[in-house]
Amino acid sequence: MNKGLEKFYDLVESFEMLPTIGKKSAIRLAYYVVTQNSYTGMKLAHSIETAIRDIKQCVKCHAMSENEICEICLDDDRDEKTLCIVQSAKDIFIVEESKQYFGKYFVIESLEDNIVKDLLNLVKKVAVKNVLFAVTPSLANDAFILYIEDRLKDNDIVFTKIAQGVPTGVSLENVDILSLSKAINGQTRV
Ligand SMILES: [Zn+2]
Repeated sequence: MNKGLEKFYDLVESFEMLPTIGKKSAIRLAYYVVTQNSYTGMKLAHSIETAIRDIKQCVKCHAMSENEICEICLDDDRDEKTLCIVQSAKDIFIVEESKQYFGKYFVIESLEDNIVKDLLNLVKKVAVKNVLFAVTPSLANDAFILYIEDRLKDNDIVFTKIAQGVPTGVSLENVDILSLSKAINGQTRV
């Protein structure tokens, strides 16, 4: 099948593996970069290669960073005693977009013990006073919040979560910025 165009179909297949890209879009993208704008295609290939090679995890907050410690962790103008907990490093971009948050972050993709220990160490080291959970409201995430709260108790911390404006079950990335800004300002105590 598709003899003589194996490379094209291989490219289509690669695009199709990406989230949100279906067969039709994959064909459209492959056709575009191969026949209509090969410069964009080459640039895309190069960007993907260098980004994968050079982006790692910040050793402090586990966000994405090209350096050992990320820019947000290094930023002394941000309040290190306020920590926003997110479940994916990409959620940091969403909270930053709101331009309403001026503390630091910590990414917990899974409740592995070493990650929770890193959080605990950080909390103790800088004497964190406020922890804000920027997670999608759901039953599973309520359990997540309770677990983290329990692990951080005895540290004299005020816990809050983004509440109003973020509907239950809706992922953070699908929340519009205005709602998110309101949610950050209208944090509710947990
Ligand atoms: Zn960091």
